[in-house]
Amino acid sequence: MQLNDKVIIITGGCQGLGRSMAEYLAARGARLALVDLNAEKLDDTVTACRAAGSGEARAYLCNVAKEEEVIRMVSQVAGDFGAINGLVNNAGILRDGLTVKLKDGELSTLSLAQWQAVIDVNLTGVFLCTREVAAKMVEQGNHGVIINISSISRAGNMGQANYSAAKAGVAADTVVWAKELARYGIRVAAIAPGFIETEMTTSMRPEALEKMTASIPLKRMGKPVEIAHAATFIFENDYFTGRVIDLDGGLRL
Ligand code: NAD
Repeated sequence: MQLNDKVIIITGGCQGLGRSMAEYLAARGARLALVDLNAEKLDDTVTACRAAGSGEARAYLCNVAKEEEVIRMVSQVAGDFGAINGLVNNAGILRDGLTVKLKDGELSTLSLAQWQAVIDVNLTGVFLCTREVAAKMVEQGNHGVIINISSISRAGNMGQANYSAAKAGVAADTVVWAKELARYGIRVAAIAPGFIETEMTTSMRPEALEKMTASIPLKRMGKPVEIAHAATFIFENDYFTGRVIDLDGGLRL
């Protein structure tokens, strides 16, 4: 798929990886629908995308975990832009904690609220956006591309029972949707980043960040633009579907 003039929805599109992908795709002429919870940052990203070369960029306030908000957002994007050609399911949150922890005689556990919040945004949000966008693409008779942002944590990361489950679910459903949607000319693939320099990771404790960086074979964190580059490859390569690209500096080797 050539990116020029293509309409692409990016969730979590005003910060970190989402913003980087937005600017990268804008510079290649894509028309962007940026979806997030933060109105101020969305407006700022729309301005940056227009400056980067996007023919059109618009902001949509929407919580991807809420079914009625996702249905409304997708229908608004279709009304504003016409065809929808792409979706990047990028919005995500962390609510880390060990499932059971005993420290100094004190027992603590991962709360159901911590579990549910991450499942709602990182897994249900991906399902809702994919379902609505794929339905629109099929209805419009459009070929399209859906990219899911999973994580190396899908292999199982201590302190991330909620996040690992969601990201493993996203990787599994990437295969499900690649199989289900191929007949309509829709490709679905995923990227599993390692540790990338965004607000999500730079908020880690400095000692933990240093230890983690030392364990990466390439000895550095990834840059958001390196994820944007991989997303562009997926959009542009018409024979790529159903696979997860690990982009982790060798961390999982
Ligand atoms: P980030 O926290 O910097 O940005 C996430 C964006 O998603 C924010 O703009 C936030 O407002 C938005 N968002 C959160 N909940 C939302 C909701 N319910 N509805 C709509 N928007 C919502 O995170 P990031 O580091 O840029 O991560 C982006 C994606 O990449 C996430 O799915 C994350 O799990 C994944 N990931 C990140 C890393 C990393 O190292 N940064 C590694 C692996 C995977």
